[in-house]
Amino acid sequence: MTAGAQITGGQRHLLLPMQPTPNGALHLGHMSGPFLQSDIVARRLRQLGADVTVMCGADVYENWVLLPARQAGVDPAELCEDNAAQIRRDLAYFGIDLAYWANPLSRADREPYEELHNRLLGEAIAAGGLELRTERVPYSRRTGTPVYGVWLQGVCPGCREPAGGNSCENCGYHYQPDEILEPRSRDGETDLDWREERSWYTASASPAALAEELARRVPQEEFRSLALAYAEGAAPRTRLTAPDAWGIPNRVDGHGATICNTFYGYCHYLASVFAARRDLPNPLTAAGAETRVCVFAGIDNLAAALIGPANIANAVPELRNFDEVRLSKFLLFEKRKFSTSRVHGVWLRDLATLDRVHPDELRLYLATILPVSEETDFDLRDCVAFVNRHRGALRQALSRLARGADVEPFAPEHADTSPARLASDYLAFLEEPSEADARWLSRFACVATPLLPRLSAEIVARFGPGGDAVLPSPLGDDLSVEDLAPVARRQAPPPSTGTAGGR
Ligand SMILES: [Zn+2]
Repeated sequence: MTAGAQITGGQRHLLLPMQPTPNGALHLGHMSGPFLQSDIVARRLRQLGADVTVMCGADVYENWVLLPARQAGVDPAELCEDNAAQIRRDLAYFGIDLAYWANPLSRADREPYEELHNRLLGEAIAAGGLELRTERVPYSRRTGTPVYGVWLQGVCPGCREPAGGNSCENCGYHYQPDEILEPRSRDGETDLDWREERSWYTASASPAALAEELARRVPQEEFRSLALAYAEGAAPRTRLTAPDAWGIPNRVDGHGATICNTFYGYCHYLASVFAARRDLPNPLTAAGAETRVCVFAGIDNLAAALIGPANIANAVPELRNFDEVRLSKFLLFEKRKFSTSRVHGVWLRDLATLDRVHPDELRLYLATILPVSEETDFDLRDCVAFVNRHRGALRQALSRLARGADVEPFAPEHADTSPARLASDYLAFLEEPSEADARWLSRFACVATPLLPRLSAEIVARFGPGGDAVLPSPLGDDLSVEDLAPVARRQAPPPSTGTAGGR
């Protein structure tokens, strides 16, 4: 486990988990990736004396939100707002602590978000770091609007499976609109009006430059190799404007009606909010390099998190790339992908209705099975067995504890921030034979807090001076599979035709 090797205490950190698409509520698969990992790392870094801020926001300009909005007959902005509110409730339930949440369609964020993206594009063009590329764009003859992203369907040029949008769910191929085979609109139009238009792209970084960038920022060798293989397979340039009606209005020039909502641009916006609040230079500019920026993303965002930012930072001399990128693979639910479109998984809003399990217990369980280096599986029975083992160990350990023990600050014993390491330390600590001394509770508070922020605080309050020495509910009883069964949603998949963003 090398994650954490580059992050140490005594520094200022800005942690940015990948922006969730507001097309539905969060499930445990989302949680096991960027959100739980960044939260545990943040809490651990603070224990090590670092100054840590975590910020996040909604990917409202992902054009896949247009489909559920049309199906529901609501304004896309309204759909985004409703789903983003649910996502924030899901994050709060799981104890994910954010200093700021950006909604680029909200009154507070809209104007500065658009302004920043237009300024970045203008600077990149002025710096001469971009290419204006001509491409063929399909328009609907009926509506006169571009058939782009969610509205475009056809056959993947890579694997010949049915596909849609800008990339293939089956093989991961990212295609331009005129590459898709047998193109048609989602409404069935096959006689599309192909027009030539120009859009802005970053130049392609050389493979050698990219390899050097990756070596500095990505702890896991496997992800570096995947990114290099991706860059060799396709031109590793990054699209910055699109002939899309849904997006950030391009006020720089007419080359692309909208500016793409890149992961780098989103991070740069949050970094600008951070800078304004703290009266510091933007951490993603050369002047702000004293603040380390670490981003967390799933492997489906490999190009967005690794290649795009390297290209954009190369295009504008004042811009800085992230200091570290932590990627993760997918958590499965009973051996199959979590899926919003197929309704397969366990959703946070369902879990929030249960009083037989505390969300911190689920944080701890997920921390032991995080898909950092390989896909892992969330199994309901394993989860219940784990929760009961933990409750048993906690009861046993607390029964040995002298009541009313004073809690004193207890320094972390190492500087590793890896959630898996922290979880195994904590579980081993519970099993250690211990004298019932005052230090036990202090040490418990230290090792448990990043994983169980709310439960550990409650246990310390109850077993410290003046506490009632009673285990918080629901930890006094055992959990049963029947308690969790109502939240497991399992559905057989219908034939898939490209439902990106649904994961
Ligand atoms: Zn494909």
